[in-house]
Amino acid sequence: MTRTLRFVLGDQLDRDIAALRELDAGRDVVLMVEVMTEATYVPHHPKKIAFVLAAMRHFARELREAGIEVRYVELDDPANTQSFRSELARAAAELRPDGIAVTEPGEWRVLDDMRGWAEVTGLPVEILPDDRFFCSTTRFARWAEGKRQLRMELFYRDLRRRTGLLMQPDGEPEGGRWNFDADNRKPLPNGLALPEPFRVEPDAVTRGVLALVTDRFGHHFGEPLPFWFAVTRADALRALGHFVAMALPRFGDYQDAMRQGEDWLFHSALSQYLNCGLLRPAEVCAAAERAWRRGDAPLNSAEGFIRQILGWREYVRGIYWLKMPGYARLNGLGSRRPLPWFYWTADTDLNCLRQALDQTRREALSHHIQRLMVTGNFALLAGVVPEEICAWYLAVYADAYEWVELPNVLGIVLHADGGYLGSKPYAASGNYINRMSDFCGQCRYDVRRKTGESACPFNYLYWNFLIEKRGQLGRNPRLAQPYRTLDRLGPERVAAIRRDSARFLDSLSGAPADAA
Ligand SMILES: Cc1cc2nc3c(=O)[nH]c(=O)nc-3n(C[C@H](O)[C@H](O)[C@H](O)COP(=O)(O)OP(=O)(O)OC[C@H]3O[C@@H](n4cnc5c(N)ncnc54)[C@H](O)[C@@H]3O)c2cc1C
Ligand code: SF4
Repeated sequence: MTRTLRFVLGDQLDRDIAALRELDAGRDVVLMVEVMTEATYVPHHPKKIAFVLAAMRHFARELREAGIEVRYVELDDPANTQSFRSELARAAAELRPDGIAVTEPGEWRVLDDMRGWAEVTGLPVEILPDDRFFCSTTRFARWAEGKRQLRMELFYRDLRRRTGLLMQPDGEPEGGRWNFDADNRKPLPNGLALPEPFRVEPDAVTRGVLALVTDRFGHHFGEPLPFWFAVTRADALRALGHFVAMALPRFGDYQDAMRQGEDWLFHSALSQYLNCGLLRPAEVCAAAERAWRRGDAPLNSAEGFIRQILGWREYVRGIYWLKMPGYARLNGLGSRRPLPWFYWTADTDLNCLRQALDQTRREALSHHIQRLMVTGNFALLAGVVPEEICAWYLAVYADAYEWVELPNVLGIVLHADGGYLGSKPYAASGNYINRMSDFCGQCRYDVRRKTGESACPFNYLYWNFLIEKRGQLGRNPRLAQPYRTLDRLGPERVAAIRRDSARFLDSLSGAPADAA
């Protein structure tokens, strides 16, 4: 009779995870550990640490209630050696299992570490595939083979056909179109009632974690309270039901909108649950499809939402595992500027940035368009070093794990992979932000002014970016129109753009001593 030590990581909190599927409750032991190496490899937002630890403790409790033996090592246990490797070795020495089973992790650095676990424990280590996704890494690699550039839309159509999501029996997409994005760019009208995400009152276990996290990580960027995340699968399923009923119907229309003082609009706030295992992508997509089939949500909403999960989420994961570890070091546009210090303080007079950064500090979440077109767009235009801005995104969001964060930041936002993931950088001037939000009306800068002290910095930085990156981007057909416009601007305007950009970018250097 063999006894297996089944190691479950903090983002694998699913009873059906591969490492638990063959579990024999009479013999096997589940190992879960809270370690400082994971809590601090970037300075994670306290709410993110609290979320993961609280969800882990609740998951362990549920396993125990089901009669499963769990060895759970808390962060402040005096015996805790504070790394995966040393805790696994300690557990193996004390429990003397015949072997170790673990599900492959979400980050390359952990997989690299896992490859040494057999040696440190002297036991066979079985690394099982993480099959919570629609597309395996092998299948993705097959799809990508021979393609010089990848495009999400084609990958997404492939997965629609394979899963049957929003498909007609004859193999055509529901509604006759694959993609309803053109309908999904409406600015938010005034007077529309906005739902809030589902909130859960912290129980005693979560309150204990919050006290620990405040004590140990209170100096990290971000506020641990108020804490309202679901930390059990049952509550995460309630959050899904709440989203489908309250927000999905308008998700599509206002997917790209922003509004001052409104953090959520019609977004789901479900990514942290999906990424740590409390929700499964297949059940989330199925819930959205059912709502549409029942007539409770329009097709542009259901399709737009499903595309984020079936399309983007799977696509970025495929690219991550295909291209790591070299992917993390790419810097195709040669960006060299250090991350501006206000990313760690939200203390900036650019109102759009202040709003996005402030929400990030309070909630450890912000929605896609804030990450892409505000904080991301600014980092792109200012030429921030990819490694620094990637580490920031990885630290500050409750849903951030490298497999999903890195391709989004490095590939989509920074275009640092030379266009492998996306066909052009999402660079935009203040006009875009003004069209999609009400931030500009409350900003000290004037979005209509193109140059000068009071002009919106996004305006001159946008042209300055195109000027500086002409060597890398000038022949991109999707940027032909902006480059034609640039060529018509005239030397005086170009000189003013260069002057204002240099002045503004110079003002970004110089950090308060302990801003991070
Ligand atoms: C620069 C940048 C960094 C990002 N970093 C992360 C990250 O670390 N973790 C993360 O989960 N998402 C990341 N995203 C994607 C997206 O911003 C978040 O998934 C989304 O904001 C989470 O909020 P929500 O659950 O309300 O999303 P919704 O708008 O309700 O979307 C539904 C779901 O679709 C999925 N999704 C949407 N867009 C993407 C995307 N581009 N990539 C992968 N999944 C997507 C998420 O699971 C999300 O919960 C990033 C996007 C950008 C532009
Ligand atoms: S004016 Fe420019 S800096 Fe100010 S909120 Fe608008 S886009 Fe942002």
